[in-house]
Amino acid sequence: MKHVFCLVALFSLTTQIAQAQARNVILFLGDACGIPTLNVASIYRYGEPQKLFVQHMPYIALMDTSTADVWVTDSAAGMTAIVTGQKTKNGIISQSATAVRGKQDGEILQTILEHAEQRGLSTGVLSNMNITDATTAACFAHSNDRRAAGPIFAQVFTPRFGDGVDVVIGAGRDLVLAATEKIGVRVESAAREKGYAFYDSLQAISEQDTRVIALFNTHDFDVWQATERAIRALSKNQKGYFLMVEWDAHTDNLKRGLKQTIELDDAIRKTADFVKSDTLIIFAADHSFDIRLRGGKRSEPLLAEDKGSAPPTAQAVPNVRVDDGHTGEEVLVAAQGPGAERVRGFIANTDLFHIMMAAFGWETWPKTTR
Ligand SMILES: [Zn+2]
Repeated sequence: MKHVFCLVALFSLTTQIAQAQARNVILFLGDACGIPTLNVASIYRYGEPQKLFVQHMPYIALMDTSTADVWVTDSAAGMTAIVTGQKTKNGIISQSATAVRGKQDGEILQTILEHAEQRGLSTGVLSNMNITDATTAACFAHSNDRRAAGPIFAQVFTPRFGDGVDVVIGAGRDLVLAATEKIGVRVESAAREKGYAFYDSLQAISEQDTRVIALFNTHDFDVWQATERAIRALSKNQKGYFLMVEWDAHTDNLKRGLKQTIELDDAIRKTADFVKSDTLIIFAADHSFDIRLRGGKRSEPLLAEDKGSAPPTAQAVPNVRVDDGHTGEEVLVAAQGPGAERVRGFIANTDLFHIMMAAFGWETWPKTTR
């Protein structure tokens, strides 16, 4: 009887451990989507603070975004820290801080996407920025120069682990085709050879596709539609998937930045409704941006109506001050799903990698009590 009890106890313990693991992880990355941007976006859209979905997720942390050598990061060093667990220098894509930008390689840092590939999961990246830009590049490529678009994209076809990133959806089609052609890589034939469907529109992606490269010449497409198509393709793999969705939230063009922040937030809400409870959903920013709410009244629109085609400037919208630059204060990380409970307190950008690894059950974290 005692043995039976022990067995039952052991079984329930292992079940609990199994339940705590995520089959899938979706990382939503608002590029430059700091707390001040969320603050302004909520008031702009809803007339109230804290109305965004990400402001209601059950677990939150405040994340430092500094690099190996400077306080204010670019998207390259920022995303490298998040997806590899190691800080590097600005301009460097998933290589160690010993790299010299444009001159010398550092050590190759294995990314969370590559860890997933190594274990047979499906993987994807999606962005409305150029697909070879730093945030997406840091997931599937390694480079000592974020501007090396051709060599960065070519790494889709020369994966270090598994069969490489399975779903690639984003902007910058002509740029990618020209940059890869320069180094003798023909994307269309290379894609076919590696089992990808190659498209120029979101609508072309079919229900049957499991490996897709879809590149567009527009930055304006529907983030939820794209995310849904990516999830449908990736979730055919019973082992699970890792998906990174980047949406541009730079507010140097204020209304565009806020609109895209709201689109991203809506997409996260819809994703949370769409996926099962085996999926960890994380929202994070790679760095903050110099935008501040400086005034405004309840019951009045936050931003003045457009008077022409020029993007609003700090002078045109007195309630909000915008300077064109990244800033170094902590950003919000918000999460729900298995493993989300590790998202708490003040954390480093490098911690997010370990939180995702632990959610998949690939390492224990935290290793020590914080
Ligand atoms: Zn960025």
